Formats: sequence, C-alpha cells, structure tokens
Amino acid sequence: MMEDHPDIRAALESGYPGYTRQRLCPRCGYDLGDKSFEVDGENLCLPCFTEWVSDYLSTNPEEVAEALCIDVHDES
Ligand SMILES: [Zn+2]
Repeated sequence: MMEDHPDIRAALESGYPGYTRQRLCPRCGYDLGDKSFEVDGENLCLPCFTEWVSDYLSTNPEEVAEALCIDVHDES
C-alpha cells in the first residue's frame, strides 16, 4: 500500500519529500533509494556495491568462496 509509505505521507503533508530519508551514495553521488549496502561504514548503492563485490572477489576469492559455502581445492 503506497498510501502508507512514510515518504509519501511526508510529501502529502508538507508538500516536499522527507529530505531526511534522501541519502546519497558516497561513491557515485546518486540517491540510494530504498536499498543500500553497508560496506566499511558507508552505505553504497547497488551498482557501487556490485563493483565493490567484484573487486573484493578478485582480490579475496577464497574468502568469498568460504562465505558462500563453496569448497576450494588447493592442489599445491
Ligand atoms: Zn553508488
């Protein structure tokens, strides 16, 4: 029910969107929208989080595998 959404109600009551909930992604500066991902204390938007995960995955593949319960076979 969109009518009960706090931002919608705030906008209807004040004529403006509730600016306190308008949070921007610290990396790209875009509005975070409804969903953000907290990385090292920063709330990132989905595209920035995806980029961060991609970087993290390429530098820490074994850690990511462990988090996803994927077995790593090291034959060395
Ligand atoms: Zn971003």
